[in-house]
Amino acid sequence: NTFPGDFSGNPMQRQTPKVLFATTDLAGFQNPELIVFNEKLSEEIGLGKIETEEDLKFINAEKIPRNLKTYATAYAGHQFGNWAGQLGDGRAIFAGEIKNSNGKTTELQWKGAGATPYSRNADGRAVLRSSVREYLISEAVHHLGIPTTRGLSLSLTGEKVVRDIMYDGNPAYEQGAVMMRTAESFLRFGHFELISAQNEIETLRKLADFAIEKYFPEIDVESPEKYWEFFQIISERTADLVVEWYRVGFVHGVMNTDNMSILGLTIDYGPFSFLDEYDLNFTPNTTDLPGRRYAFGNQAKIAQWNLWQLANALYPLIKDEKKLEKTLNGFNETFWKKHDKMMAEKFGLHEVLEGDDRFFTDAQRLLEDLKLDYTLFFNRLEKFDESSDLKELFKDVSYSVLGEEQYSVLEDFLRKYQNRLQKNTISRSKSLELMSKTNPKFIPRNYILFECIEELKLGRKDLLHKILLALEKPYEEIYPEFSQKRPSKYDGQTGSSML
Ligand code: AMP
Ligand code: MG
Ligand code: MG
Repeated sequence: NTFPGDFSGNPMQRQTPKVLFATTDLAGFQNPELIVFNEKLSEEIGLGKIETEEDLKFINAEKIPRNLKTYATAYAGHQFGNWAGQLGDGRAIFAGEIKNSNGKTTELQWKGAGATPYSRNADGRAVLRSSVREYLISEAVHHLGIPTTRGLSLSLTGEKVVRDIMYDGNPAYEQGAVMMRTAESFLRFGHFELISAQNEIETLRKLADFAIEKYFPEIDVESPEKYWEFFQIISERTADLVVEWYRVGFVHGVMNTDNMSILGLTIDYGPFSFLDEYDLNFTPNTTDLPGRRYAFGNQAKIAQWNLWQLANALYPLIKDEKKLEKTLNGFNETFWKKHDKMMAEKFGLHEVLEGDDRFFTDAQRLLEDLKLDYTLFFNRLEKFDESSDLKELFKDVSYSVLGEEQYSVLEDFLRKYQNRLQKNTISRSKSLELMSKTNPKFIPRNYILFECIEELKLGRKDLLHKILLALEKPYEEIYPEFSQKRPSKYDGQTGSSML
């Protein structure tokens, strides 16, 4: 990587220099039907309840309220490591910004409400399965305490949408859906990349100034170093975000730069998955094979690579290779420091001591070698003490059959763990408290979402409502059947192959 970076090789599609958005109409669905509405979120952001027919039509992307201007924004990105030029946003339409009584602003966006000027040849639609996944998972990630865009509503559009052509040449119809999502800002690395690639430095400066002033109050707008500070904070937040993903075993699956938020939010849920068995090489994205660029264990490295691209995009404003390189090269150290702190907490350790990094590596090896469920392993550790019967305690935590040899490996590890716990200077109950707020008891596993979607296709909402309840309290075990390993009938189909 060098500065100022090379954005050549892909013609830009945007026809309007200096402008990053285009007014966009809705598709105009005839018979949309609301599936879920997030009333709590709606109250929180200042939107309130759905009270009138007009309100419902707005949420369902049926009709734009009077005086509201809707628009789509353009952005570019690096996809799978290659500069792909302009590529978004072909199916997210902004429905304005709302302010709550505390003055906090939130942007609203429909995803799948129709084609935009940036849709190219695509339809601007979304299907039920991907919309349900994004709605549920963004809410789950939020309640896990991780920064994310959120789901406000989910509706069937009443349309049939084609995503695949069958072997016999016939189209496979799917139910169309639209979701409304919210975020403080949907600004992405790709927005900055697009204008920078076109060498529109004044527009770039305007966009950065806007972002800094509105979303980064900690930056002094008079500071001559404000753009570098802007970049430093984004780097820090990105490191924080990825550490959080590692905490709960989340694999984003498509960390292209257009799917990276300037605010450090988890954004654009596609082929994501939570880990069942711990596997650093796991990618839920079937188009990410065999390279596994977006595998679980690669996410920190890719985040750093993406930050390089953002640094390139911001370079014309900063023009200081040394400073940018310092931040970028410091990413590793920042990340690992935060990561080890997080890992310590998962184990109920209140501080990171010398040698702990080796202990964590041992733990990773144990989890991989014994094919242990990442979430369940830590849940069971909370119940572990010297008198524990290991075979009983770790029953149904592994995705392979554990024999005597494996149990003795586990026993060795747990002995090391006991020794390490003894170096804690907090009480055992404080340590357990730390564990229970760091290790979720409920994660929306891929197969659970799959089953929910299958039910919804048949018009049944029971599982959906159950998931909605469980995800609000992920550190409690609301439904014991949700805190178990993936059933064996789903083995081998954990990724987007099952979407
Ligand atoms: P993704 O890889 O899912 O983040 O998609 C990259 C970009 O492709 C999005 O930002 C959209 O602009 C565009 N896109 C994806 N699906 C569609 C669709 N069905 N219609 C229009 N544009 C789409
Ligand atoms: Mg995207
Ligand atoms: Mg997508």
